[in-house]
Amino acid sequence: MLRRTFLATLGAASVTALTACTAPDGQGPPAAQTHPFWTRVPPNTAVATATSPSVAAATPSAPPPVTPAAPPTPPPPARVTPPAAGTPVFGLPVEGPYLAWTVDDGANSDVIGAYARMARDTGTRLTFFPNGQYQGWAEHAALLRPMVESGQIDIGNHTFSHTALTKLSDQGIIDELSRNDDYLNRLFGVSPKPFYRPPYGFRNQRTDAVAASIGYSIPVMWYGSLADSAPLDEEQLVRNASEWFLPQHIVIGHANYVPVTHVFPQLLDLISQRGLRTVTLRDVYSA
Ligand SMILES: [Zn+2]
Repeated sequence: MLRRTFLATLGAASVTALTACTAPDGQGPPAAQTHPFWTRVPPNTAVATATSPSVAAATPSAPPPVTPAAPPTPPPPARVTPPAAGTPVFGLPVEGPYLAWTVDDGANSDVIGAYARMARDTGTRLTFFPNGQYQGWAEHAALLRPMVESGQIDIGNHTFSHTALTKLSDQGIIDELSRNDDYLNRLFGVSPKPFYRPPYGFRNQRTDAVAASIGYSIPVMWYGSLADSAPLDEEQLVRNASEWFLPQHIVIGHANYVPVTHVFPQLLDLISQRGLRTVTLRDVYSA
């Protein structure tokens, strides 16, 4: 009933909210990041700061730098029992300011790399749903793997070839999920089970049951989208994030087009200003 209530709130915006996974292609490399966010000192990193002797001597009476007040980061959520096998999830069943930022596909290797570096530099928790057909996951596996091992980055299955499950036979569904499972296992040393995202969000009771029969028991849908499965300008990306980066939301984005990498600072500021805490699916479910 909770899910039904949640879905009942889907209104005119649902088309945007549920947009995903149109045919991707690449664009140029991400531009250098110049936003102040990228100049923040990561925790436990020893570098010279504004309190270094030369700066302090030059401005002995300068006030301390003013940082905008942000709500305190909440503690991690208490894990909950997963729903019955084959039950799709659209939002997070945990009270609190938790946001699941999920990233699909991986058509552009540079975008995968930019997401990985952003996560490494900021501690942002992400859930990736890679298609093994894209080489960028292997190209950036060394960077991603420590974060996968620590749990900061979660890996779900999105099929190897990004084929609509509803168009496949039962065996075809098993083959697509298993091929990607094997590939991601080799790449990251973990199985994505039980989490998978049906390409295009196309699923039904048959696909749910077939996937569950091989251990993929949680179809991960979403409630809010950056809508960047097709090329989108940076202003629209920020507007979409502003609309959907909210507590208990699972938001879908894509590692397919470069513009999202240009607005990481704005998206991270939104998370900070709203007092949200990013979580992976494995942070939420005791799966
Ligand atoms: Zn996709």
